[in-house]
Amino acid sequence: MSVELNEIIRLLQEIYPPELAEEWDRVGLITGHLDSKIDKVLVAVDPVATVADQAIALGAQLIVTHHPLYLRGTSFVAATNPKGVLVHRLIENGIALFNAHTNADSANGGVADCLARAVGLTKTRPLLPVSENTGSGRIGKLPQAMTLGDFAKQVSSRLPKCPAGILVGGDLDASVETIAVSGGSGDSFLSAAREKGADVYICADLRHHPASEHLEAGKPYLICATHWASEWPWVPQCSQILKESFPSQLEVIASTICTDPWTKRILSEEQD
Ligand SMILES: [Zn+2]
Repeated sequence: MSVELNEIIRLLQEIYPPELAEEWDRVGLITGHLDSKIDKVLVAVDPVATVADQAIALGAQLIVTHHPLYLRGTSFVAATNPKGVLVHRLIENGIALFNAHTNADSANGGVADCLARAVGLTKTRPLLPVSENTGSGRIGKLPQAMTLGDFAKQVSSRLPKCPAGILVGGDLDASVETIAVSGGSGDSFLSAAREKGADVYICADLRHHPASEHLEAGKPYLICATHWASEWPWVPQCSQILKESFPSQLEVIASTICTDPWTKRILSEEQD
């Protein structure tokens, strides 16, 4: 039993409508024949060599990733650089690659919703709404207020383990209840999180100056996860939808390989 690739794409584009993608983004089918037969799918955050290795080892014919391979376009896919090598390995092994990026961020039940659910939020709504259930980021409530320190521990325990862990900025004893989240790089939504009255904003990749200048003006406090960890909660969710949609035809594997660039964090107190 198997499914044609174009049927899987039709489903993925229903749940992650390409129209929701930002103008600068690239989403859709990167390699593959629309009529190829698929019986095993691997879902992951990044289209990188370790994920391709896993797909080849599993015998998967399709990889669904969050991130695009060529965001800025290319004139060359020769196997003379890592992305060209990846394209060649995928094609030589008969593997299609499809991605849903900012369209999956915004979608109802997408990356932002999965992150909000993972860290324990209820009554969530989009931080920057496109409609009632779609848009960038999410803002919601904890079932009951807790300290920033306890909430940070909860976030750390509910996101997947990764070498870099999470960073926390703010008063650890302060009470927090309203939480804004955005998977991946989150500088651009700092002011939206403040305007909507968040006590904490969770995202990834925060840089020194935007984070420092933001905290100088007060809340929301900041929790900076890694890019992979903040977006990974979408991977099992997307896998589940594929499984439920094609229960007897598809085996779907949620990749747990950490594709953050960081392999080790050495805390300052461990230096001596
Ligand atoms: Zn991302």
